[in-house]
Amino acid sequence: MARILVIEDEVDMALGLKDNFEYDGHEVLIAEDGEKGVQLALEGNPQLLILDVMLPKKSGFDVCKELRARGIKTPIIMLTARGQEIDKVLGLELGADDYITKPFSVRELLARVKAVLRRSPDEVSEDATYHKFGKIKVDFEHYSAYDDNGKVELTFKEFELLKYFQEHKGQTISRDKLLDEVWGYDYFPTSRTVDNHIVKLRKKIEIDPENPKHILTVYAIGYKYID
Ligand code: CA
Repeated sequence: MARILVIEDEVDMALGLKDNFEYDGHEVLIAEDGEKGVQLALEGNPQLLILDVMLPKKSGFDVCKELRARGIKTPIIMLTARGQEIDKVLGLELGADDYITKPFSVRELLARVKAVLRRSPDEVSEDATYHKFGKIKVDFEHYSAYDDNGKVELTFKEFELLKYFQEHKGQTISRDKLLDEVWGYDYFPTSRTVDNHIVKLRKKIEIDPENPKHILTVYAIGYKYID
């Protein structure tokens, strides 16, 4: 497992992350401001940084910029605030590997941590296993998807949904079953949630979303996936 440096000034958040990472078998360092964060990133030999944007003394952007300028390639996941689209873009431009928007579910963060730890900076999904269907190919391990035009932006939930479908090809799956299996206890969704996600997912993966060939509606029950 990895040594993870959490740079976050909100104590509850930092300790909550520490608990969860430790439960997953990781070792955790905490820095409560940007300066301490840079110092621990340089001296603590972490394998991954969780970096909040809004920090005292030095912002998350400055921390990211400084570390990259010093040649530190440790993967960084930035914590951005809801609605701050600019933060995400800036973070990635400054060399962050991924970002997650507050508030987030711990399950989602842990999945992203796993994905980031799995890929080293130099191998960009060389060894990726792609599932191809219709117009896209998906690498579930690295949470990436592509079509002929390039990268297809799928949300975490869309990846999970698609993965579940892939694992249950040809089976008719009820909305309730999807809620249990894909959403679990993280949210309090309704069957409308499932339908809304399917509509969005079809737009991304179907050649003709109005006339789907992969995610089929099974009247009065739910959905069926075929390649
Ligand atoms: Ca903060």
